[in-house]
Parts: sequence; C-alpha cells; structure tokens
Amino acid sequence: MANNDYDIIWKETMNQIRKELGEQEFTMWFNLEYLDASENELIIGVPSTFYQDQVRQRYQPYIEGKIRDLIGKNLTISFVVNARPKNENTIQPSDLPSIDKKPAVAAPAIPARENKKQHTELRDDYTFETYVVGDDNNFAFNAASAVARNPGTSNNYNPLLIYGGVGLGKTHLMQAIGHHIHNNFDGKVLYITAEGFMNEFLKLLGENKMAAFKNKYRYVDALLIDDVHNLERGDRTQEELFYTFDALYNAKKQMVFTCDRPIAELKNMTARLKSRFEWGLSVDLKPPNYETRFAILKKKLETKKVAIPDEVIDLVSKNVSSNVRDLEGALNKLTAYAEYVKPVTLEIAQELLRDVFAAPKQSNLSIDIIQREVAEYYQLSPSDLKGKKKNKSIVLPRQLAMYISRKLTELSTIEVGQSFGGRDHATVLHSCNKIDGLMRLNPKFDLEVQNLMRNIKTHGVKS
Ligand code: ADP
Ligand code: MG
Repeated sequence: MANNDYDIIWKETMNQIRKELGEQEFTMWFNLEYLDASENELIIGVPSTFYQDQVRQRYQPYIEGKIRDLIGKNLTISFVVNARPKNENTIQPSDLPSIDKKPAVAAPAIPARENKKQHTELRDDYTFETYVVGDDNNFAFNAASAVARNPGTSNNYNPLLIYGGVGLGKTHLMQAIGHHIHNNFDGKVLYITAEGFMNEFLKLLGENKMAAFKNKYRYVDALLIDDVHNLERGDRTQEELFYTFDALYNAKKQMVFTCDRPIAELKNMTARLKSRFEWGLSVDLKPPNYETRFAILKKKLETKKVAIPDEVIDLVSKNVSSNVRDLEGALNKLTAYAEYVKPVTLEIAQELLRDVFAAPKQSNLSIDIIQREVAEYYQLSPSDLKGKKKNKSIVLPRQLAMYISRKLTELSTIEVGQSFGGRDHATVLHSCNKIDGLMRLNPKFDLEVQNLMRNIKTHGVKS
C-alpha cells in the first residue's frame, strides 16, 4: 500500500469514530495525528505521555478493530509523543482538531457571529486563544474545549468541575468556555462568582423575590459558577444551588464549576451538593512546568508594547514557579520598567525582582515556619523539604512537615503541595496517611510529633 493509502484509511477510521462516539468524546480524546506507516503498523502522534497512556488504555483495541472492519486486515497502532521543537512544545488551541465547521450533533451550533455582542460579565482576554497549553494542563484544556463545543450534550461532562490552587488559570479556562458558548450558540450564558451568587440569593430572599431569582438561574443555557468553595457555611445558598443544579441538569443545560481544592476537602458543604459537583467530569490544574511558564510569559508579552529578552524570560520562568498570577506579576514589573525607564537587562531584572524571588508568599507564612522548625529538628534545610531528594532521612521529615501543615493550617492538600516544590495533592494525602499510621503504631514518634506541633504553635502559626 502507498503511504497515502494509510493516511486515507486513518482519516476514514477517524470519521467513523467521530460519528459513533459523538463530538464531545471525540474532541476530548482523539487529538491524534497520522505521522507514518509501515507494512503492518500505523504511527500516530499524541500530544503528551498522559494522552499516550490514556488513549492506549481506552481506545487502542477499539481503533484497531475499526481499521480491521474497514480494510479486512490487522494493523497495529503505535502511539508516539509528537515532540515539537524546543520552546514550541506547547500545544496551541489551533493544534486541536477543528470541528467548528461541522455543527455539533445535538447542540444547536451556529457559525461564529462576529457581530454578536461581547458578553458583559466575561473578561475579553480570558479566551482559549490566549490560554497556553502545556503538558501539565492539556487534559483540563481539552475537557474545557470539548464542553465549550458541545455544551450540555452529555451527562459525562455535566457539570465540568475545574479545581486547583490559586492563580493556576481556573477562572481563565471557565470564562473561555463562556466566550465560546456565547459566540457560537444561541441562549444565555451566565457567569457569576459563588460569592455573587450567594449575595444575590440572600438579597432577593430578603426582599421576598425568590421567583425572580429562580427565573434568572434556572432558565439559562450555561451556568458558570466560579470558586464554589466560597459557599462553605452558606447553608441556604447551598440548598438553592442544589435545586438550581437539578433543574439545569434535567434540562440538559451545561454547568461549569471551579473550586480551589478537591471537592472531598470541602468541610462545610452538604454531601448531596458535593456529590453533584462530581457527577460529570472533574479536572485539576497543577502548577505549570518550566516550559509552560516560559510559553505563558511569551504569550503575555505579545500584548505588551515593550520587548523583554529571552534570557530574562528564562530567569523569571526558573524562579517563579508557584502559580501563573505571580508569574504575570513579575512580568508586569519588568514591562513597566522597560516602558517608563529603560530596557530591561538580566542584571536589572535580577535587581527588580529580588523581593519576588526571595520573599515567601504571605499565605505561605505559616508553612514556612513549619518547614523551618521541622527542618531544624531533623538538622536539614527547608529547601531539602521542598526539593526532590528521596533519601530516607529527608522523606520522612518532608512527609511530617506536610502532615503538620495540614493539621495546623486551613490550607488544602493542593496548597500544601504547592508549597512543597509543586507536589500534587495525592502526594500530600499519602504523606498524611503515612504519618497518621506511624503515630498510631509508635507512641514515641507520636509524642515527638505532638511536641513539635506544640513548639510550632507557640511560634505563631497564621493561616
Ligand atoms: P485562578 O482562577 O485559578 O485563581 P486565573 O484564571 O485568575 O487563576 O489565572 C491567573 C492569571 O494567570 C490570569 O491572568 C490568567 O490569564 C493567567 N493564566 C493562568 N493560566 C494560564 C495559561 N495556561 N495561559 C495563559 N495565561 C494563564
Ligand atoms: Mg479564579
């Protein structure tokens, strides 16, 4: 067979799969690219190792079966991570399979109307086009993109829950979904913060205007509620959201929520609402890796009037790793200087950002104290606790420091993980369970931990 034939076979297989699975699932998982073929093998590119694993597990036999049905012959598929040149190895929205030309099967897709009015509650720069996609967030991006293209069509994606620590792009991604639905579909897109939702509810309740509230929230086509963790303790608002949820869910209207921690960690939220948040698809955003940070800075720089040399971008990418908001803050300092004073060199940048690089974040104050005290107790340095070393003499103190951070502060496992060199919440959870177990088995260790915690408390832990 000529190489061209394999390409055609692949395209046809993808067409059939798209019809069979529907646009939403297809957009989400079939971000695949035909690269090459040999006698019995197709080489297919995937955007990341994460995708590679997932697609192999979920779809490999299925796709191979489809090809066999089509050509009456077995072809094996090899999925390879489609490496891009350095600094360009982030996926841009334009790399995603474009399905805009074909209207969605069930949803009333209409061509983008350029003259459609801007959505007033959405920031106009929070779109998919300005969102930089890297290895660490492409799953969340693809989920958001699938939902935006096919809102409300599948219960598997309703609601979409985006969770992760502060400044990691939850609001940006949520509003990008809002823009896309607003621009491409008829119907009302409502974006509101959980706080705004609560305030409006309480106000209208007080004025005896519940009918107006219900009218507003139960008859929208997409409801986006940002930062649902802020509904903790709002019992009546939670109840109202519960009814709103069921009304929209039954009417097959798309919902999107964001939360700053895994839902299981919400303490004062009713179980029935917590479970509903997770009925659809949950995706988490993690702190971006170096490559993504670099790409984000370059992208943000496009909208500025000044140039910043790559070596400075490299410096900032290396030193600001906690979240994207801090990254942007650092960039803004540099661009303001470049615009009003003089061009920024490496030396100037180092000087301008000395505080940013050195200062612990205010919200991490207590964790810093915990890390310092635990490190001192075990004769280590705080950076050992945040670092990657796996020696036994460091791992246990690190796990203990995470455990104490969870016990003595209000921070979520996500936030604790961020303060320990960007570890994820599962690692923090594992550490806490491990220490819990050790304390139960070993009374001496238990006592030691209790003493250490008492010491830290007397040094004043704020959270
Ligand atoms: P969160 O809601 O998670 O606290 P935001 O959505 O407000 O975070 O993001 C903080 C800032 O970082 C915003 O200015 C946003 O545009 C930017 N940002 C976050 N992630 C990305 C990304 N992947 N690409 C481009 N900008 C990003
Ligand atoms: Mg936000």
